[in-house]
Amino acid sequence: MEGCLVEAGPDSFLAAKTAAADLIRAVGLGGEIIGSNDSRRVTYILRNQKLIPMPEGLMMMLPTKAWPMIKTPLLGWGTKLRMGLELLRRPAEHPDRSVADFVEDHFGRETVEYLAEPLLAGVYGGDPAKLSARSTLTRFVEMEAKTGSLARAMLQAPKHAGPGGSLFQTLKRGMGSLVDALRPSVHEVIHGEAEALEPQGRVRVGGDWLTAQHVILACPAYEAARLIGPMEPDVAALLKHVDYSSSVTMAFGFRRQDLDHPLNGFGFLVPRKERGALVACTWVGTKFNHRVPDSHALLRCFLTSDANPEAVLLELQRIMRFTGRPAFVRTSRWVNSMAQYLVGHEDRQREVDQRMSQRNDLLLIGNAYHGIGVPDCIRLANQAVNRITQHHP
Ligand SMILES: Cc1cc2nc3c(=O)[nH]c(=O)nc-3n(C[C@H](O)[C@H](O)[C@H](O)COP(=O)(O)OP(=O)(O)OC[C@H]3O[C@@H](n4cnc5c(N)ncnc54)[C@H](O)[C@@H]3O)c2cc1C
Repeated sequence: MEGCLVEAGPDSFLAAKTAAADLIRAVGLGGEIIGSNDSRRVTYILRNQKLIPMPEGLMMMLPTKAWPMIKTPLLGWGTKLRMGLELLRRPAEHPDRSVADFVEDHFGRETVEYLAEPLLAGVYGGDPAKLSARSTLTRFVEMEAKTGSLARAMLQAPKHAGPGGSLFQTLKRGMGSLVDALRPSVHEVIHGEAEALEPQGRVRVGGDWLTAQHVILACPAYEAARLIGPMEPDVAALLKHVDYSSSVTMAFGFRRQDLDHPLNGFGFLVPRKERGALVACTWVGTKFNHRVPDSHALLRCFLTSDANPEAVLLELQRIMRFTGRPAFVRTSRWVNSMAQYLVGHEDRQREVDQRMSQRNDLLLIGNAYHGIGVPDCIRLANQAVNRITQHHP
């Protein structure tokens, strides 16, 4: 649109999770991979109507550098002192608990409200009081068990980054180009909803029954539960625990002269305490090259429910302090699409895996099980295909 490349859904993937880049290379698009402009990676958090840069060296909500944490106006002295004392913690194992309880235990309530909640809202659109620490902050829970102090573990951990050192990667011509490249290898597409599933791979689509040697369910867990309920009632009952949130992306494209702002960072997050409709906003042209011509600026907003674009624009104008109007707005709605791993997810998922492990006729993949990012979904799909081909080489 006006020379801007507007992503409707996912705009990138974590470089440290290699399954996406591997697939991209396998379909011949390796040369199209670009990294985020990490030398300009500053993310702001809204506090008291001001955008405050997240302290340098922060990995999610974990400090890896002392001085930026000491200096930041984002957190008060009580929280900073608490972060210092966290270094003294001994290894501990807890039953799964919520992200809010986990982070508060280590770094205090303010860290939940001004770091964990906005960061996770941007990824999961979820509530930290309900999300499982073990399933959403897996690495940090492992650190807690091993070293006790998360801050100390972070200081000692090797830093991961993709080729060129970027945290995020994407495709020059947009994430959709991966789907386009995969399309020719699909043998046949039958459009329609899977309405019912029966033993021996019988699937009803649009009233007609098809038979398949293997059925891979790549739909949300609530749909998978409905479909496999008659065959695997216990698995279906477990899958119903996977909650979903909705998300809306609203991209505002401006002619550059109409947006009086330096766009000096990747964008900002709005903590729930300060939130109207806006949850997060990416300053697209700063984060990635090849997305926005110099003549334009693109602000890509995340909301958890639908909102009037005029109301969102007013919020943007108030937060970023500009008055100009956009040349275009593009909204994409993703209803019940973001899986939420609630407390206890890991145990339930282990049982699902165990019950399904004997079945090669029916497999479950997608963001409901072992990670919600694009690379996680690709990794799970690869595993399903490997399982099938091992039995039918
Ligand atoms: C706005 C947004 C931004 C995101 N940004 C990123 C990002 O930058 N990086 C990242 O790694 N991840 C991101 N994610 C997360 C990631 O995109 C998703 O978790 C992932 O794409 C989910 O893939 P999936 O195949 O599990 O589910 P989906 O992509 O939701 O696909 C499920 C499919 O199942 C179909 N379906 C449902 N029921 C049936 C049925 N009965 N019969 C047939 N088909 C059915 C649906 O129509 C749908 O096409 C983002 C997600 C959203 C919504």
